[in-house]
Amino acid sequence: MPSYRIWRVYLLGGLIAVGIFALLPDEVWADVMYAAIGMSSVVAVLVTAARFRHAIGLAWALMGLGQLAAVFGDVMWLYYEHIAGVDPFPSPADVLYLLEYPFVTASLLMLARHRRSTADREARLDSTIMVVGLALPYWVLLIQPNIGGHDSLFSQLIALGYPIADVILLAGLVRLLTTSGTQMPAYRLLTAALILLLAGDVIFIMIEGSVIVGDLPFLLSYVVWGAAALHPSARDLLRPTPDALATFTTRRLLTLTAVVLLAPGTLAVQLAFGFELSAWAVTVVSAVLFVLVVARMATLLRRLQDQARRLDRVARTDMLTGLPNRRTLDAQLARDYERAAREDVPLTLAMLDLDHFKRFNDTYGHQGGDQLLAGAARAWSLLLSSADMLARYGGEEFVLLMPGRDLAAAEHLLQALRLVTPHEQTFSAGLALWDGRETPLRLLRRADTALYAAKTAGRDRVVCADPAPDSSARSATRA
Ligand code: GH3
Ligand code: MG
Ligand code: MG
Repeated sequence: MPSYRIWRVYLLGGLIAVGIFALLPDEVWADVMYAAIGMSSVVAVLVTAARFRHAIGLAWALMGLGQLAAVFGDVMWLYYEHIAGVDPFPSPADVLYLLEYPFVTASLLMLARHRRSTADREARLDSTIMVVGLALPYWVLLIQPNIGGHDSLFSQLIALGYPIADVILLAGLVRLLTTSGTQMPAYRLLTAALILLLAGDVIFIMIEGSVIVGDLPFLLSYVVWGAAALHPSARDLLRPTPDALATFTTRRLLTLTAVVLLAPGTLAVQLAFGFELSAWAVTVVSAVLFVLVVARMATLLRRLQDQARRLDRVARTDMLTGLPNRRTLDAQLARDYERAAREDVPLTLAMLDLDHFKRFNDTYGHQGGDQLLAGAARAWSLLLSSADMLARYGGEEFVLLMPGRDLAAAEHLLQALRLVTPHEQTFSAGLALWDGRETPLRLLRRADTALYAAKTAGRDRVVCADPAPDSSARSATRA
């Protein structure tokens, strides 16, 4: 039978078996069938565990061993009830049942650890909020009422053991579900199986005893769990998924809201129906939740700030060379203008263009051309002072902004840059000194004209721009 069908056959067969169980009289055969259904799930899970290696095999093996303990518990229960004729609750069978929880929780945490993403801090906080919120109803309904009133310490421990084990298992499940990519069928089936198990426990504790209705969630849990193990996606529980930063979905927000509202909700219900108030429990849980929600907001805010900073850097930088881009150049030019005017210092600007770059591309390929651009940017940058700014203007054109350097000093720097240009490549440059009045656009245009003059004159040279037509005294004194 093809493997993608086995899980369906198992699920269907299991559901039919559970249906038959529900119709059987409460005799030994019903309990034998109960244990057999549980054992079939153990076999399915352990066979899956044996098929896979490493972490994924271990995760299924831990689940299978946990289930196996529970099935031994079922058999022991059967022995106490039908052969020894004593009340099986509480008994060592419960110890076996309780053993299931640490095994399964360990498996869930192992899966969660392998699936964690970069947003793990947030996922961890989300799951903590959910578990703290959900622990309150467990405390109010199942734990607190069970403290005291038991005839032995053993029965007391067992009675408290189930709800506490449930909260621990719930924590593991919630932690796993807050990692990204748990949408695949095996996860959905596994989640359903665990929710059935948890629901079974709640029903069992609430109705205090064994009736058919109370058995059904456990049996269905076994069947769905076995189907999860046999599903083809069982092998993919650890498959990395695209890092979903979008794990903070509307659904998660609604779940968190609902869980946080459980605390005031509990108090409201108790007040409305005249129950005893769980004032302390609600106070403590609310306080912890407030702190957790604030911590959650802080991480979100920090991530937003990080993203804003990263985006800002990307928006201002040329990706290939790592140099400031044109947008940054414009902003810096405005700042340098202001400073040059205020402090009466010279401001020169050069426009650089690699010579015969098209030919270089044709010879070495565009990747070679890219490397030359990045290499030239790196080599030139090493010679610049902190006040200078080299920006990629576009293509193989660069603008060098040199506040504080007059034309002679700027030309000296450009000659130095020519010497360090990689691959014996040359560039032509047009150099212009700000006249104190012209706009940045006009200054750039003058440098550009000088660059064209350098190209026309044979390339591999620096040409100083003609002074602006209505040039100020500063450029006149330079000449
Ligand atoms: P000139 O000496 O007159 O400046 O000649 P040139 O070949 O350098 O100039 P031209 O404008 O004819 O060609 C520029 C070439 O630069 C064409 C284009 O393919 C190349 N180029 C522009 N941007 C990039 C880039 O980011 N990477 C690479 N590899 N090539 C680029
Ligand atoms: Mg060009
Ligand atoms: Mg060129």
